[in-house]
Amino acid sequence: MAFLPQEVIIRKRNGEELAADEIRQFIGGFASGTVSHAQAAAFAMATYFRDMTMPERVALTLAMRDSGTVLDWSDLDGPVADKHSTGGVGDNVSLMLAPILAAMGIYVPMISGRGLGHTGGTLDKFDAIPGYQTSPDNDLFRKVVREAGCAIIGQTADLAPADKTLYAIRDVTGTVESIPLITASILSKKLAAGLDALVLDVKTGSGAFMPTLEKSRELAQSLVDVANGAGLPTSALITDMNEPLASAAGNGLEVRNAVEFLTGNGVDNRLFDVTYSLCTELADLVGVLDAPTKIADKIGSGEPAERFGRMVAGLGGLETL
Ligand code: URA
Repeated sequence: MAFLPQEVIIRKRNGEELAADEIRQFIGGFASGTVSHAQAAAFAMATYFRDMTMPERVALTLAMRDSGTVLDWSDLDGPVADKHSTGGVGDNVSLMLAPILAAMGIYVPMISGRGLGHTGGTLDKFDAIPGYQTSPDNDLFRKVVREAGCAIIGQTADLAPADKTLYAIRDVTGTVESIPLITASILSKKLAAGLDALVLDVKTGSGAFMPTLEKSRELAQSLVDVANGAGLPTSALITDMNEPLASAAGNGLEVRNAVEFLTGNGVDNRLFDVTYSLCTELADLVGVLDAPTKIADKIGSGEPAERFGRMVAGLGGLETL
């Protein structure tokens, strides 16, 4: 039978459960241009009001992942993992977590985003380092991951492109705050990054995207269930965002704060707790034995600071540190 996008929209509007194949065809059509932006907006609004079952969410996430390239890291000699935070104030955890895990032999090819609303984005922080390339070509990205163990860059054009366009449509149609759409948006990019494991830091509180614990729990559960359902071992921590995480807020200041943490010259307690817990969770997921002790040893060793320097130098920011 011919695929008609309007039939899919009507079925979702009426609260019916869509088959995986319908979702795949709808998103495939959206990516290739046969499903219009107006139809995608109507689909997003129908989803906003009617929600999605877990199998629908998994199908949407996989369809968005498959709208572009899926990275392959099989040439590396260790596990590949990443962390995603739903965003907060003074949340510079990625700047420490990536080199700490790299020092543990876990590769971290981190595709980060910009700030959303009042929350700061990791990429904005790296823009505070003159020369640092947040959009390197694929060869340079792979080289830095291989040599430093970690690289933090922005979303490339061929990674989950359907999400990029759908997100822009959601942004202007009042459909950002939908748990199935947020789930598919975040996870399609992480699945496209070709990871072996993922840890999620779902923030809760007045400075978070999800202000109530109930909503944060709902988002965390959806993300964990869909990621595992899509074959990516994932766990989530729900962490407090009623006050800034670092004692610094602002892109340049948060980079300096991260360097002080890594060099042992000034460690904020709240930041330490969250960074240490997320590192431990991820190391556990990839099968590191006695992860808490090993992570604590690495943090004190100076090696993460050296990895951070290698990553920044590899991506062009050497002279500025
Ligand atoms: N971050 C994303 O990448 N997508 C969303 O929908 C919300 C936050």
